[in-house]
Amino acid sequence: MDTLFRNVTAVLPDAAVLKYAYVGVDAGKITYIGTELPAEPPGGVIEGRGKVLAPGLVNTHTHLPMTLLRGFADDMDLQTWLFQHIFPAEDKLTAELVYTGSLLALMECIASGTVSVSDMYFFESDVARAVAESGIKANLCRPFQGEENHEVRTREALELIGQYHGYDNGRIRIDASVHAEYTSSPAIWEAAATLARENGLRLHTHLSETVREHDECVTKYGLTPAAVFDRHGLFSVPVTAAHCVHITDDDIAILAERGATAVHNPVSNLKLNSGVARVQAMRKGGVNVALGTDGAASNNSLDMFEEMKTAAILAAGDDPLTAAGALRLATVNGAKAQGRESGQIAVGFDADLILLDFDKPHLQPLHNVISSLVYSARGSDVCLTMVNGTILYRDGEFLTIDRERVLREAGKAACIF
Ligand SMILES: [Zn+2]
Repeated sequence: MDTLFRNVTAVLPDAAVLKYAYVGVDAGKITYIGTELPAEPPGGVIEGRGKVLAPGLVNTHTHLPMTLLRGFADDMDLQTWLFQHIFPAEDKLTAELVYTGSLLALMECIASGTVSVSDMYFFESDVARAVAESGIKANLCRPFQGEENHEVRTREALELIGQYHGYDNGRIRIDASVHAEYTSSPAIWEAAATLARENGLRLHTHLSETVREHDECVTKYGLTPAAVFDRHGLFSVPVTAAHCVHITDDDIAILAERGATAVHNPVSNLKLNSGVARVQAMRKGGVNVALGTDGAASNNSLDMFEEMKTAAILAAGDDPLTAAGALRLATVNGAKAQGRESGQIAVGFDADLILLDFDKPHLQPLHNVISSLVYSARGSDVCLTMVNGTILYRDGEFLTIDRERVLREAGKAACIF
């Protein structure tokens, strides 16, 4: 056994809690859970008294390099934000800036308990370079977008697949991608779906984020974005659809039938005044619902604890999501969207674990561990982050990323905007 967590309060599947637990990790997998000391001696022991061991969080929709645009354009709707501010700023980005922005994002993710991300951006091989160094898990994609030549995009995607798909025992995976219905055309959707089918990939897209997107699509095609995507074969592979704020009951049926995941991004949707997704309707309709922050330019943080709390309190009322439901969105359902055996503290699952220090005023007294984890804890309460059994962050120290260098480079990078 490589590592043993001792005396922890462990968060097990279905929000069960095991106190005074021993959790053993070997060769990147969880191999032991119990209240007795395991017979096999561990290589290293991590003392867990006063701490909660939880499954690491999965951020199922983000744009990592957008940390460089954090606070660049706030307090406006999505259309103005995107077309008048973000797209012109992104024209100035270079491969090196994308790499720096990604490392900055990954430090924030790792330090706040995220163990895996689904990222969509350009210069994606430079995002992959940062992910490879950091030790985090990621499903990465470079979206097909605009009226551009999709043969060029397909060639680029195949290069990215050759370079990084399956890297480090599948720690990095490449997904196919369409940016969104309103930024592309049917020929591009079909090319992306073909790329995914021929290479056994998942596909990541934005779907029905704003009412304007929904209305303009219905005017143009006579169909909703989900229905028009379906007509062109996009859902013939497992799809991760970010937002799904303005979707109809028929759209929910399409997503459920095709086995797609809807990613709820409540903070970004509220900040850009896009609305609130009908999370409970989607879950009850049989859709896998996961959770994401979206990019740091529209959030403006990558803290999945904020996201869980917001998701839970937005879906309060007669049919509440509940704290346990929000935790499920951020763990098991995210791992399912990425096609990974992760997101649970269970024997045989990947050792993607986070330890939180509960010996703090805002986390005491402890009536209900799941309640405190979702409603009271913050990303900054994470004191250890482990991915595939490797510790990436411990007690404020990054073990894979040079914190000072990245902060310095990110500060310089921001001057170009
Ligand atoms: Zn997005």
